Amino acid sequence: ELNDLAKSIKRDFPIFEIHPGLVYLDNAATTQKPASVIERQSRFYDHSNANVHRAVHSLAEEATDLYEQARQRIASFINSRSEEVIFTRGTTESINLLAYSFAKSGMVKSFVVPTFEHHSNYVPWQQISKIFGIKFLPLRLDGLEVPLEKIKESLETLKDPFVFSMTGLTNALGKRTPFEEIVKLVHEHGGYFILDGAQLIPHEPFDFAGTGVDFLAFSGHKMLGPMGIGVLVGKEEILKRLPPFLYGGEMIDRVGMEDTSFAPLPYKFEAGTQNVAGAIVLATAIDYLEKFDREELKNHIQNLTDYAREKISSIDGLRIYSPSDSHGIISFAHDNIHSHDLAELLSRLSGVAVRSGHHCAQLQLKELGVVSLCRASFYIYNVFEDVDRLAEGIRKALRWFA
Ligand code: PMP
Repeated sequence: ELNDLAKSIKRDFPIFEIHPGLVYLDNAATTQKPASVIERQSRFYDHSNANVHRAVHSLAEEATDLYEQARQRIASFINSRSEEVIFTRGTTESINLLAYSFAKSGMVKSFVVPTFEHHSNYVPWQQISKIFGIKFLPLRLDGLEVPLEKIKESLETLKDPFVFSMTGLTNALGKRTPFEEIVKLVHEHGGYFILDGAQLIPHEPFDFAGTGVDFLAFSGHKMLGPMGIGVLVGKEEILKRLPPFLYGGEMIDRVGMEDTSFAPLPYKFEAGTQNVAGAIVLATAIDYLEKFDREELKNHIQNLTDYAREKISSIDGLRIYSPSDSHGIISFAHDNIHSHDLAELLSRLSGVAVRSGHHCAQLQLKELGVVSLCRASFYIYNVFEDVDRLAEGIRKALRWFA
């Protein structure tokens, strides 16, 4: 019956009508959008388009109200306060914001990041630490298991405050990390914990206040929303102490010849014209997602993942790299065929869309001893028949090579 639910969900997504043969299994890269989300975007521009916070005319008031309602909607979605929600372009920008602001603040002496992180949660810390003379500590964890003891040992060597930034669900393999435990370890050792929620938030209900993470970053486009809008959520007392990232209009209080004071939260971190439509449409995407029982959606995606593992593991020469408890993602490679060729043939011969490559996790792939993987990733509109098509598609591609 969960499969029937997914079938009915699929009917809400126009792309599957326009491409009836498409088996879309590249959801970890970006998800498709339901009609309500697509319509909300044009409705904003038809009915309510104006810049926010700047004018007193009624259209600007309407746009401002919608934008601030979207902020509240997101706050209720992840259980934070509205002032703690900052709109960004996506996870990447949220993490760059934090890396710059922490570096400028002088509040920490080192950045600690696991090597299995997505490049978006690795390169900013690595590069910005160089600019500001902050210590950068890559932590080698294999990503199939996340060893708490090893993390604890590393944190014990740190004498000064630090930032620890980690994903909740890895994008290359689909490993759910035990971040709840790690938050505690980080706090016990005097650090700030940042959660990269780009993969996790689309799949699980999240309680920002309850988990105790200091910051959370995620992207709208991986959870039915538009591209170019994302979120940074941060504890108010820490956000207040951090300096702004971008400077410009909207984020100021008073501007003097020599110095400027900044606006209160969250506006201090929202310089310039924002993606107002994006924020409003993201709220619509959340409305869509929360129409369903999210536990059921999660169970369905887990069932698809387990079914895919079982289906494709019997294919000769195919190696599965995802851990046995992966969620939403199965990454694999064939002993004799490059994953780009396999992905291309899956698309060309069978209409199955999977990703191939290093998945923005070059260090992780290096640790696994592989240069390139195929990744099938599932979302709420995928059905068991899609997995069958994947397995048949792989077999067909292999015959093509034989
Ligand atoms: N972190 C993880 C775990 C991701 O999967 C992604 C997107 N692939 C990002 C960060 C970056 O997100 P965005 O490209 O939306 O900024």
